[in-house]
Amino acid sequence: MTNKLVTENIQLRDRLVLLLEQAQRNQKIMRRHQAFDLKFIAANSLRELIESIFDTLSESSQLDVVTLCLIDTEYDIRRIMVELALDQAEFPNLLFIDREAELGLTLAPMTHPVLGRFSSARHGVIFPKQVLTPASVAVVPLLRQGRLIGCLSLGSLHEGRFASGMASDFIEHLGCIIAICLENVINNERLKRIGLTDSLTGVNNRRYLERRLQEEIGRTRRQEFPLSCMYIDIDHFKKINDSAGHQGGDEVLQQVALRIKAELRLSDALGRFGGEEFVVLLIDAGLSHALVVAERIRASMAGQPIVLSDGSALTATVSIGVAQLSAADRDHPIEKTALQLVARADEALYRAKQSGRNRVIGAS
Ligand code: GH3
Ligand code: MG
Ligand code: MG
Repeated sequence: MTNKLVTENIQLRDRLVLLLEQAQRNQKIMRRHQAFDLKFIAANSLRELIESIFDTLSESSQLDVVTLCLIDTEYDIRRIMVELALDQAEFPNLLFIDREAELGLTLAPMTHPVLGRFSSARHGVIFPKQVLTPASVAVVPLLRQGRLIGCLSLGSLHEGRFASGMASDFIEHLGCIIAICLENVINNERLKRIGLTDSLTGVNNRRYLERRLQEEIGRTRRQEFPLSCMYIDIDHFKKINDSAGHQGGDEVLQQVALRIKAELRLSDALGRFGGEEFVVLLIDAGLSHALVVAERIRASMAGQPIVLSDGSALTATVSIGVAQLSAADRDHPIEKTALQLVARADEALYRAKQSGRNRVIGAS
């Protein structure tokens, strides 16, 4: 009898020790995850959040590959990335798709993490060629108010790391936190953009351009690449307003903004400076390159009439002044240099107007 009790007691103790170990392990995992949560929540910019997702997860969770795929239907997250100077090449594991359907039918609809062996047919989009191919994966949906905004994909070279049927509460929670944080920083960036956008044409406004110009001048001073500025003014716009009406004039402004944009690189900055005037900052472009781009804009305006919503058509031409940031300005304060660059482009524009309009002139 006593012997049986002693054995039972020993068994119970062993069991208790096991349970205690398990509880301690779980507590450790929970602490680690809480630390993740705090890190993600503390990120107050898109860059910080993306960096912290990749760094934290790969290092602390010993994952061999982590990718983040965002559904960017309106292309605006990618535009925000450009504006924040977040180079996509810097984040090969950050992926964008235009539509949810691109994730593939076998993954959608996704409401909970899907764990299992890697299959290139199913997971090719979220683990593309440029990243390491895992053996097992956990695909975690990022949901906001029932809407899929993207997915976080965790990959391991060990086949047994993620298998269907395994508990996935922790990674589901992780997906929730990351989705909220992503939506939050992206919305913040969108909000900041509203105050910096021209409501009629949708391009940047003057405030944005002035701020951006100062930033770019600072960058060229550190990295020594050329920077040019274009001042564009619609010719005889008063007459256009007189003949097409104010509403027609507004439509012309919208079309001109689109045509200018079509000739620019994604990294260039276009803004409506006021009335019928636009300014473009050409990043990493010297005067000769900027003159070529300006000529393309001029020709695209003069060569094709603008069709208004009432069906009428008119040809609007533009005059453009171009100036390159001069290396001699290096020692002047940035604010002064910025004003001078725009003023030199404006002077060249004045000469373009004086010499007959519908032309491009570069500042000497
Ligand atoms: P120039 O070739 O010398 O540039 O002649 P212009 O008529 O284009 O130049 P001016 O600066 O004399 O006239 C600009 C006109 O643009 C005056 C103003 O009524 C009009 N304008 C300014 N802002 C807007 C706008 O938002 N919408 C419309 N429809 N017209 C605008
Ligand atoms: Mg004007
Ligand atoms: Mg004008």
